[in-house]
Amino acid sequence: MQRITKNVFVETGFRGCNVGFVVTKEGVVMIDTPMMPREALRWREEVAKHGTVRYLINTEPHGDHFTGNYFFEGTVVAHEGTRQAMLAASVDQLKEYLKVADPESLTMIGEFSYRLPAITLSQRLTLYLGDHTFQLVNLPGHTQFQLAVYIPEERVVFTSDNVFGKVQAWLHQALPYEWLESLKRIQEMGADILVPGHGEICGRDYIPEMIAFIQAWIDAVKGAIDKGMSLEEAQEQISLLDRYPMQAGSEDRAMLVQRMNVARLYEVLKK
Ligand SMILES: [Zn+2]
Repeated sequence: MQRITKNVFVETGFRGCNVGFVVTKEGVVMIDTPMMPREALRWREEVAKHGTVRYLINTEPHGDHFTGNYFFEGTVVAHEGTRQAMLAASVDQLKEYLKVADPESLTMIGEFSYRLPAITLSQRLTLYLGDHTFQLVNLPGHTQFQLAVYIPEERVVFTSDNVFGKVQAWLHQALPYEWLESLKRIQEMGADILVPGHGEICGRDYIPEMIAFIQAWIDAVKGAIDKGMSLEEAQEQISLLDRYPMQAGSEDRAMLVQRMNVARLYEVLKK
């Protein structure tokens, strides 16, 4: 765990997404939860040392950000689209996944259910707790429902998966042009520290690099479409794995991610 400012704590080493919490005078606000039960339980112990969890914000509709909600207290807040994704998430599928990834953890999940948001937003919502402000803003990109959480008192923004810190990006539900715009908005927020959804913590100066990476994906797939390539041909030819490695623990999905990214962009850009 890293203490990145006086009141903000982040863990970037769990399987799945980066998670964090903010300690306010009136309790703790969490941002996302660890996906693996063993790590969620460890994180729960860590968070408990700093107070009671009052709010738990989920930043996006993918299971690696919200599955661990089950292990935590606090009122869940998320985009309405994320709530819909949680309603559609399958407990059986999760159990099948854990059987392979960490079989012993099946004994830790008890009567597992996806703990849903009680409060949702579509565009923006501001939460006040103690002396802290949490500005939740919908910034479409990695998905349509992506939230950034900006905490001005700490000059920190949790960017969710609109930023991947020097690891491969997943574009399988991307809105590529909106993503470029959202990155510019993150840069203008006034935060000194960015906590990405995956990978290393960074500063605002990383945003141009992230924009260039998304642009490189757009250019590669657009180039293939302009040459008249079929989707299958584009998937055979395009890989941006030379730019960034896969996040540790996801190496086996490298080819899958490249193919999904190409498929999504091909569908969006061919129009
Ligand atoms: Zn995601």
